[in-house]
Amino acid sequence: MALSYRQIVIDGSPTGVQGLDEIFAQLYEAGRRPGEAELGAEIVGRAAEHNYIPPGAREVFAQALLAEYTTYVARRAKGEADGPVDYGTWRGYPRESIPWFPTVDLDLCDGCGVCLRLCSHHALAPIEAGDGDEAGKVRVAEPFHCVVGCSSCANVCKPKAITFPPRSMLDAYRLR
Ligand code: SF4
Ligand code: SF4
Repeated sequence: MALSYRQIVIDGSPTGVQGLDEIFAQLYEAGRRPGEAELGAEIVGRAAEHNYIPPGAREVFAQALLAEYTTYVARRAKGEADGPVDYGTWRGYPRESIPWFPTVDLDLCDGCGVCLRLCSHHALAPIEAGDGDEAGKVRVAEPFHCVVGCSSCANVCKPKAITFPPRSMLDAYRLR
């Protein structure tokens, strides 16, 4: 049977990864939860069985895959389906192929929550207690739920913790 495929954001870029949903389902059924020591490294090890992961990139993959698993667990806890999410298209392009989403600088974020109250698209989520020193700050939980071209959350963030790519980047996506 063909492995699942999904795009996730790794180090600011959409990256295709095979077999993640199978790994996540196994971990979830086994009761494994984010916050466990070395879980990110374990997910990377499993993902490397189906994907090329450069040795020097394992740490950033571990962070990204653990963040993705955190979102997966939250979805499952709400009773949502465990398969890949359909993010739709923009100008005819798969949403996951467009690198338009916020980046949050946790050194600047003060956890005020203004962006969370503003965004109704669930692209952002609070970092849970138990996730280290950053609890209460904000993470990008669903980058492809962010509305292409919107940057409202960056506009209301007083410490300027939220940034976006240059809007001119979207010119490359002509209507098709
Ligand atoms: S508005 Fe800015 S400072 Fe406030 S929680 Fe969001 S990212 Fe953090
Ligand atoms: S840019 Fe708009 S849609 Fe995207 S996370 Fe911010 S408020 Fe939500």
